[in-house]
Amino acid sequence: MIRKMEGNQFVIEAAEVESMAKESGLSVLQLLPSLVKSAQKLARPPISKYHVGAIGLGSDGRIFLGGNVEFPGLPLHHSIHAEQFLVTNAVIHGETQLKYIAVSSAPCGHCRQFLQEIRGASEMKILVTSTENGGGDHQNDEDEAFSFLPLSTFLPHRFGPDDLLESDVPLLLEPRHNALAFIDGVNHHVENNVINGDVNCNSDVADHEKKLKCAALEAANKSHAPYSVCPSGVALMDVEGRIYKGSYMESAAYNPSLGPVQAALVSYLAASGGGGYDRIVAGVLVEKEGAVVVQDGTARLLLLSVSPRCDFRVFHCRASSSSYNCERLST
Ligand SMILES: [Zn+2]
Repeated sequence: MIRKMEGNQFVIEAAEVESMAKESGLSVLQLLPSLVKSAQKLARPPISKYHVGAIGLGSDGRIFLGGNVEFPGLPLHHSIHAEQFLVTNAVIHGETQLKYIAVSSAPCGHCRQFLQEIRGASEMKILVTSTENGGGDHQNDEDEAFSFLPLSTFLPHRFGPDDLLESDVPLLLEPRHNALAFIDGVNHHVENNVINGDVNCNSDVADHEKKLKCAALEAANKSHAPYSVCPSGVALMDVEGRIYKGSYMESAAYNPSLGPVQAALVSYLAASGGGGYDRIVAGVLVEKEGAVVVQDGTARLLLLSVSPRCDFRVFHCRASSSSYNCERLST
């Protein structure tokens, strides 16, 4: 997973959550809505100027933040919604469940659908701070923790993964490995290993592409793409050589799917604490050769739109008969 950066404002560790709750005299659940405004401040909506903040409680007590992100100069469907940012942030940090979410505005239909990709989505509890007690700032109300409503209230008669998938297929926050390998794998030498998601290379600048390629393959192997079976992943590199990974995430309803560049930009924004996009200098997309769902054109369009000087490359992979990772590529 991404190395936790100093000052990471998008993840609050469990111990800190406990101490924040204690200091403020709130339960952990009451703490969630009290943090929504902080998440709104982290949003980047230059088109709508409408800041949406989302807060989620992980199974291990960590709290994840998300904000909406918009990209001027591109069609609106490239936008990242706050709830999508939140879920992606949780995925990046290895969280396997989100049972409670607080958001600044009622989740839009797109997000209600996107959240269906999480196991037990119907029971996920959501609190909308803008409608609490008629709106306004009521974040310290004692009964706030009881204002969470199940997602099934927001989206009854849902269409979701269980309409299309067998019950044993991993869903969005669940671990998976897509067993993808580079087509040119035998010729691709990676001298350093990828350990727990951190590309831990000491090699020189010439190896940056190899590291990016390796990280993008790892992201593709974690991609949630059970509907098209066309997983993909993106790895971005900033001017300091740090790498940010993002996995393509599909929705049963197709359109709410989140592209791999968007996911990698969430990694970047969450870890960089608000760095400018122009600090992204290189990006690699890994996707399957001959895929029915191709990310190349869209990924290139988005990435070069936010960071025009970024060096963008695409590499193809295919499903391997056995689990295949970068460590094996070094042999
Ligand atoms: Zn939304």
